Amino acid sequence: MPLLARMIPAPLVVDVRRGALAELGAILADQRISTSGRVAIAVGSTYGPIVQSTFRDGLAGADWFTVDGGTINTAIKLVEQIRRERYDAVVGIGGGTVLDVTKFAAARLGLPMVAVATNLAHDGIASPISTLDNDAGRGSYGVPAPLAVLVDLDLIAAAPVRSVRSGIGEIVSNLSAIADWQAAHALRGEEIDGLAISLARTAAEAVMNHPGSVSGDAFLAVLAEGLILSGISMVVAGTSRPSSGACHEISHAIDLLHPSRRAFHGEQVGVGAAFAWFLRGDSSAFDATVHCLHRHGLPVRPSDLGFTLEEFEAVVGYAPQTRPGRFTVLEESALTPSRITAKVNAFDTRITAVLESR
Ligand SMILES: [Zn+2]
Repeated sequence: MPLLARMIPAPLVVDVRRGALAELGAILADQRISTSGRVAIAVGSTYGPIVQSTFRDGLAGADWFTVDGGTINTAIKLVEQIRRERYDAVVGIGGGTVLDVTKFAAARLGLPMVAVATNLAHDGIASPISTLDNDAGRGSYGVPAPLAVLVDLDLIAAAPVRSVRSGIGEIVSNLSAIADWQAAHALRGEEIDGLAISLARTAAEAVMNHPGSVSGDAFLAVLAEGLILSGISMVVAGTSRPSSGACHEISHAIDLLHPSRRAFHGEQVGVGAAFAWFLRGDSSAFDATVHCLHRHGLPVRPSDLGFTLEEFEAVVGYAPQTRPGRFTVLEESALTPSRITAKVNAFDTRITAVLESR
């Protein structure tokens, strides 16, 4: 009988628990990622010194590098620094910026990358995508996904709560992204992947249906694991489609039109997902998204992100240009400026009604 299956590259290690960081050296050795301990470790300027002090006695063979900012130039500078010595692997310990820079640098150097997340603001923890600022604004670069993924809940519990909550918006947006992908399949014949959808959807549902909050370890573990599964869903799909649709186009438009007023990525995509569900006219998914964001203290309305309705209308109008060729509910709705104004105003009014009905 033929054994028909597809091989999916997956991390050797996924470790979500308190105290995971202290095991880094042992994990690198056990998994043969680095038996010599010769690894390059990239950290951010804020938490770097704290993280480094965890290894006063361990990881003697590691060299430490500080990453300052999430630009392509920072990533290239890191490549130049790391290539001067021989290393078995590159380890990124930090939030989204540090991990994105490290992923890109590891890909350029052809070295395995180990991700240690210090917040849960995004699904880049295990994804094959590095998002970096460049001369054109911001770009997404395809890179190998991390070989090992560690989430130390001690670090997460100590991180700014906004940076942790933001991941809820990120993962809730999966459901909207999947709806966009399925519509692109039905209306445009775009290929979809049922396994990628299963991973991305299950991850989002687990977080949305969990009764806990970011103050509890059980919830944090589900959120962390959900974000890791989201990343793997992108590996399976070979595209960011299972977790990025209209929700992300709206967030990219905010990033590009208002770079100095960016909120956390997950905060922006959460509002984007709510707006996308409103455009689809799916009131049950819209209500569930609004309630989930509100319950966890995330922005729901444009004003919660600091934007007037007029500014949000401009964001919506610009959003499709951020991902040319990606068919989402924004493109499907054939929005004219007057329709955008009407929809944005109705969206804002509807949120009030949904929240008051509780
Ligand atoms: Zn995202």
